[in-house]
Amino acid sequence: MSDQFIPLSVPNLSGRELDYVTEAVRTGWVSTAGRYVSEFEENVARYVNKDRAVSCQSGTSGLHISLILSGVMPGDAVIVPTLTFIAAVNPVCYQQATPIFMDCDDTLCMDPVKLAAFCENECDFDGKALRYKKTGQRIPALIVVHVFGNMANMPRILEIAARYNMKVIEDATEALGTKYLDDAPCYPGCFAGTMADFGVYSFNGNKIITTGGGGMIVAKRPEDAEHAKHLTTQAKSDELNFIHDEIGYNYRMTNLQAALGIAQLEQLEGFIQTKRENYRLYCELLSDVEGVSILPFESGIRTNYWFYSLNIEDPERHRRDDMIAELSRMKIQTRPIWGLIHQQKPYVNSLSYQIEKAVYYHHRVVNLPCSTNLTKDDVVRVVEAVKQILGGR
Ligand SMILES: *Cc1c(COP(=O)(O)O)cnc(C)c1O
Repeated sequence: MSDQFIPLSVPNLSGRELDYVTEAVRTGWVSTAGRYVSEFEENVARYVNKDRAVSCQSGTSGLHISLILSGVMPGDAVIVPTLTFIAAVNPVCYQQATPIFMDCDDTLCMDPVKLAAFCENECDFDGKALRYKKTGQRIPALIVVHVFGNMANMPRILEIAARYNMKVIEDATEALGTKYLDDAPCYPGCFAGTMADFGVYSFNGNKIITTGGGGMIVAKRPEDAEHAKHLTTQAKSDELNFIHDEIGYNYRMTNLQAALGIAQLEQLEGFIQTKRENYRLYCELLSDVEGVSILPFESGIRTNYWFYSLNIEDPERHRRDDMIAELSRMKIQTRPIWGLIHQQKPYVNSLSYQIEKAVYYHHRVVNLPCSTNLTKDDVVRVVEAVKQILGGR
């Protein structure tokens, strides 16, 4: 068997990327003007069944803009998950607000039961605003992350948010393509990112499609999408005279990035197909292996299968970090699930609510190679390596 390095998640640029990027360079349209930017916005909007999508410089900047438009002000609090990438949380602080960390459930996404209990027991609601009893802070919004391409429980979360007048921002940076099935009881056919007040996608290098770096914002209300466009483009309200009516940001996507994005989006459904096949092969080959399992995705959805999670059942017996180190020696790149955000230096003094499941999975989950150029032989090699490590104890 080959002993070539197997990376965790790398871009697959085997479509028309070079054609479109070459066209951008050849015509000189490399910066923030140019036809690819609006074309990419239109194509993403069409893909997720929205009228409008607004490109931006990263998923992080898209989340920042969404928080601004959700009315998050200095001193407010925003409910966020702790089991996620830190970019889902930092923008709360850009707004000089503070996060309140929430636990996950077995989907790895926000636990709606704990969310409801938190709002009910730890907060006051006066019919207009939810306030955290301990600090008196207003909680105008929450951020829900569709972790690894799984779907958070949107019907429940949106219902709770509506009850307490909170805006909801879907961090769908890992979940472009994930959707409820057409026969789902709630939100049939709806894509991750399109059900709440705002949804944000990312095209960072490790995401399911990439523009090198970039993001996209969708909004429930058309005027919010237009406002997002305004804020990401320096809030310029007059092209000729440079008139600006509020503080804007340079969060624009470039034409070069959009050129890449168009070519990538053309391949997205094919990427999902490949990821599904590799996911199923991992599940099949590991099904009778003691000590580990592959975490399932939710039923009732079509996931994009972005990241695969190997779950170590007894982390005392098989230590997560040993598994990763030994796989690395066999030239297989894996990684532990993220460090929990509420335990990270900038957030150690933050508020959090009954975090248990996130800690549980933190000790157990190893992300396995999942690139779309991963071959069946690669999957077999990874599984054989995992078996060998488990057997060696
Ligand atoms: C990648 C990611 C982001 C940030 O996206 P960028 O485009 O890298 O800024 C935010 N949240 C989560 C959960 C992510 O995985």
